[in-house]
Amino acid sequence: MNPQFPTEEPSNARFCPQCGQRVPRTYRGDTCPACEEEALYQQVKAYIETHNATATQVAQEFHIPLAQVKDWIENGYFVYRNTPWH
Ligand SMILES: [Zn+2]
Repeated sequence: MNPQFPTEEPSNARFCPQCGQRVPRTYRGDTCPACEEEALYQQVKAYIETHNATATQVAQEFHIPLAQVKDWIENGYFVYRNTPWH
């Protein structure tokens, strides 16, 4: 009898194509959460640079929590030109 140890099956492993970090097999995104956020951030950044959008509009446009957008702003991710963020 060869007891089967509950080792992880390589066929079940999924890795982020962006950074190579392992992601849960059940995870539905293409890339890992960190890369997803980075990609989203880049999109939002580009959007802000071309639109005169408020944080609320950005949150709606990208279907992300307003708190996430505000968090990015508070952390200085975005340099907003003239309109105050509300
Ligand atoms: Zn990644």
